[in-house]
Amino acid sequence: MLKGKVAVVTGSTSGIGLGIAEALAAQGAHVVLNGFGEAAEIERVRADMAQRHGVTVRYDGADLSSGDAVRGLVDGTVEALGRIDILVNNAGIQHTALIEEFPTEKWDAIIALNLSAVFHGTAAALPHMKKQQWGRIINIASAHGLVGSANKSAYVAAKHGVMGFTKVTGLETAGLGITANAICPGWVRTALVEKQISANAARDGVDQETAARALLSEKQPSLQFTTPEQLGGTAVFLCSGAADQITGTSISVDGGWTAR
Ligand code: NAD
Repeated sequence: MLKGKVAVVTGSTSGIGLGIAEALAAQGAHVVLNGFGEAAEIERVRADMAQRHGVTVRYDGADLSSGDAVRGLVDGTVEALGRIDILVNNAGIQHTALIEEFPTEKWDAIIALNLSAVFHGTAAALPHMKKQQWGRIINIASAHGLVGSANKSAYVAAKHGVMGFTKVTGLETAGLGITANAICPGWVRTALVEKQISANAARDGVDQETAARALLSEKQPSLQFTTPEQLGGTAVFLCSGAADQITGTSISVDGGWTAR
């Protein structure tokens, strides 16, 4: 379905981003991976994805906490692969603390990566998409783009910001063959969440699985984690013709989290 398209997925060396990159490559898209990790493991993942799907898979290790680096990722993609059709703004980090104890440098880092990078990537990609008259901007927001949770002020502020930014992107590109949407996952058991499960397990003196069940039962009525594969499927749907008129909005994949 996406044969010949070029997709950039930020933060795709693990977790949700990797699941989305895999799903887009499986549809025939050439993919640019980005994120941190061990060089040999990233190369293994890159080569394996390229080989299994018969597509070009590049890796760009840009640190997206700088706006110039985000723009460089997009420009470098167009230079190397000739185009950018799909931009998945996924890279994100978390830090939990009460507002009055929240370290300023953590606040700044979360806003830079989880919110400002979405602006810089979109700004760099849109001129190419407008020229091509086709494009897909997919922002990985969160249930925390729709509701709050204590101790997550920077993350919730950034994700709500992403939701607003997505609406404006949808309006500015309406009718131009470009759509911009957010995906709002609930709990997904990635490195980002495993850290929170470990912290809760230590706090409550329980094992990891008990803490994982408690995390789900507090927020996610399905009592099941959302998976990177399911989010990959959602991203593929947003790239399909069936989604041509879906823009400026969001899709929750949260097991019912935000239904109550
Ligand atoms: P993860 O920690 O598994 O993956 C994060 C990715 O971002 C990794 O590839 C990492 O290397 C990369 N990254 C981190 N800092 C970076 C930087 N400065 N520059 C470039 N890349 C960087 O986390 P995840 O759970 O897969 O999260 C992906 C996105 O999904 C985030 O935006 C997160 O907020 C969102 N999300 C996650 C959940 C969840 O439950 N896991 C729920 C809702 C939304």
